[in-house]
Amino acid sequence: MADQMDTTTTPHCGIWGSDKMKKITAMVPAYNEEECLYPLYDTLSPILEGLKYDYEILFINDGSTDRTLEIIKELRQRNSKVSYINLSRNFGKETAMAAGFDYATGDAVVILDADLQDPPELIPEMVALWEKGYDDVYAKRRSRQGETFLKKFTSATFYNLLQKMTRVQIQKDTGDFRLLSRRALNAMRQYRETRRYTKGIFSLIGYRKVEILFDRNPRLAGTTKWNYLKLADLAIEGITSFTSSPLRISTMAGVGVAFLGILYMLYIVLKRLIIGDPVSGFPSLIAIITILGGMQLLSLGIIGEYLARVFDETKRRPLYFVDEYNDKDVE
Ligand code: UDP
Ligand code: MG
Repeated sequence: MADQMDTTTTPHCGIWGSDKMKKITAMVPAYNEEECLYPLYDTLSPILEGLKYDYEILFINDGSTDRTLEIIKELRQRNSKVSYINLSRNFGKETAMAAGFDYATGDAVVILDADLQDPPELIPEMVALWEKGYDDVYAKRRSRQGETFLKKFTSATFYNLLQKMTRVQIQKDTGDFRLLSRRALNAMRQYRETRRYTKGIFSLIGYRKVEILFDRNPRLAGTTKWNYLKLADLAIEGITSFTSSPLRISTMAGVGVAFLGILYMLYIVLKRLIIGDPVSGFPSLIAIITILGGMQLLSLGIIGEYLARVFDETKRRPLYFVDEYNDKDVE
C-alpha cells in the first residue's frame, strides 16, 4: 500500500506506468429506485470527488420496471464516471452484486445500497483503512433505526444460530456495505454458485478484515424489497450454503429418538412381566407417531434443501445476463 501513498502528491499526473492513479468503484445495485438515485448521486459524488483517487460509480440495474435505468443514463450523460450495467431481468440483489463484482474496474470497491441506508459519508474512513492495508472494511450497524423489534430479534437469533453451526467467523449486524480491496474482490469473483449468500462469502474469503461502526438510516424513499418470507428464505440460504450441520443434527436427533424408543419398549416389556400391567395407551401411541412423523418430515425437508442445492449447482447455469454496459448492447 505504500506505493499508493506516493501518488498523493501528483494525483492527476500519475497515469503513466505503474504509478497509475488508483481507482475506487462505488457499486450500487438498484431495483426500482427511481426516487433514491438523484439524492444518492448528489451525496455520493462530492464524497468521491473529495478523495485523492479516480473513481467510478457503477450502477447495476437489476431489471427495474420504473425509471431507474433512464435516471442512471441521465446521470451518465452528466458525469462520465457514472457507469452502469443493465441486467436482462431481475435477478435479485445477491446476483446483481455478483455482476457488479465482475464489471467493477476499481482497485477497491465499495458496495452501497441505493436507498442511502448505507451512508456514503463513511467512504473516506473506509478508504483510509484500505490504504493501511486492510482488504475488507465492513460497516457494522451500531443501531438499526426504522426496523421493527421483530426484525431485530429474528436477525439476532439467526446470526447466533449460524455462528454456532460453523467454524467460519460470521460478522454480526453487518450487511453488504463494505470496501473490498482488489484481491478480496478477485476472491469474491471466484464463487460462482447459483444460490448465493454473499454475506457468507465475505467471511469465507478471509483476508485482513476490519470493522467500522455506523448508524444505519431508515430507507430514504420507496419500499424495502424484503419481507419475512424472503428473509426466511435468505436465512435458509445462509445456513445451507455455509454448513451441512443441519444434516448432522437430524442424524443425531434420529439416533436420540430411536434410543428413547428402545428404552420405552424395555419399560413396557418389563412392566408387563413384573407388574403384569396390560399394555394400554392409545393416546401415547398417537403422540409418538405424530412426533416421529413430524421429525421424519423435518429430516426429509432438510435433506431436500441440500438436494435442491446440489440440483441447482450441478446445472451450472450462468449467473446472470447483461443487456447493456455503458450505452453499448452486450452481445
Ligand atoms: N435490490 C436489487 N435487486 C432486488 C432487490 C433489491 O438490486 O431484487 C437492491 C435495492 O435496489 C437496494 C438494495 O438491493 O439498493 C437493498 O434492497 P432493500 O433496500 O430493499 O433491502 P433492505 O435495505 O431493506 O435490506
Ligand atoms: Mg434498504
